[in-house]
Amino acid sequence: MATGRIFDIQRFSLHDGPGIRTTVFLKGCPLRCLWCGNPESIPSEPSLSYQPDRCIACGACLPVCPEKALSTDAAGKVRVDRQRCTGCGVCPPVCDPHALELVGREVTVGEVLDVVLRDREYYRASGGGLTLSGGEPLFQPAFAAALLAAAKERGLHCCVETSGYALWGAVRDLVPLVDLWLFDFKETNRHLHEKYVGKPPDLILANLRQLHDAGAKIIVRCPLIPQHNARPEHLDGIVALSRQLPKLDGFELLPYYDLWRAKLARFSLQTELPDTVKPPDRDTVDGWNAYLQRHGVRIVGDRAAESARSG
Ligand code: SF4
Ligand code: SF4
Repeated sequence: MATGRIFDIQRFSLHDGPGIRTTVFLKGCPLRCLWCGNPESIPSEPSLSYQPDRCIACGACLPVCPEKALSTDAAGKVRVDRQRCTGCGVCPPVCDPHALELVGREVTVGEVLDVVLRDREYYRASGGGLTLSGGEPLFQPAFAAALLAAAKERGLHCCVETSGYALWGAVRDLVPLVDLWLFDFKETNRHLHEKYVGKPPDLILANLRQLHDAGAKIIVRCPLIPQHNARPEHLDGIVALSRQLPKLDGFELLPYYDLWRAKLARFSLQTELPDTVKPPDRDTVDGWNAYLQRHGVRIVGDRAAESARSG
């Protein structure tokens, strides 16, 4: 039975494809988007989360760590030495208030499917199903393929949310298993693409074109980040892309949101995205959508009033 590493399973998702869905978040991502909404998803190995406000300074975790990665401050609260911590997972079970938690676990296809199938009746009633997200689902291609194949065997509608950064062979193998691709397009300018997400856009765009030419159903999703890619030239880049790929099912804008910043401290992470970057207001998002529609872009979905994920 194929195994993979996930960091969450979210039931009753409403924004990861049509209907009511169960979204499985796979760990690991080759990109480094400045505005990543799930920064804990980037490493493929498990990550230790520590929330000091939950720590009651009981000291139970200190002696169990084999790497001596835990110490205390003057108030008895724990400090995690990230250089030493291997994410072994020994300390969370002794932490009653769940100040320490391991994010990321190895699972079999069958274990995941057991959870996904619990809501089968909701999928039937709403046109929903299973969505693979991340991280980057294509970072674990064999596991993603096995999970999707098992879901298809049971008649589930399957979506994949992807940055598109993967070898074409990994994408191609999933084509018969995916009913709808939710495909990110993050930045038109080549130089800025590399600056904002850590990789050039060539592979991503080549995969998008090949998927389009293969007749896949695709919604292109565009995170728009103030002071970064929320620029007129990038909106024009979206218009150009929609003209080059006329068989796309549509585009969806994902306005920036900043709730992810609260997660950074839990994992001792930092961001280069300035804190002057704020979520856009409703009128601004309406203006973006109206501009694109005036130029012939088919817009599907409206995240302006929601706490949308941008990845
Ligand atoms: S996860 Fe393992 S290595 Fe890291 S702090 Fe806990 S016990 Fe130590
Ligand atoms: S076991 Fe949990 S609550 Fe107790 S000191 Fe360690 S982190 Fe704090």
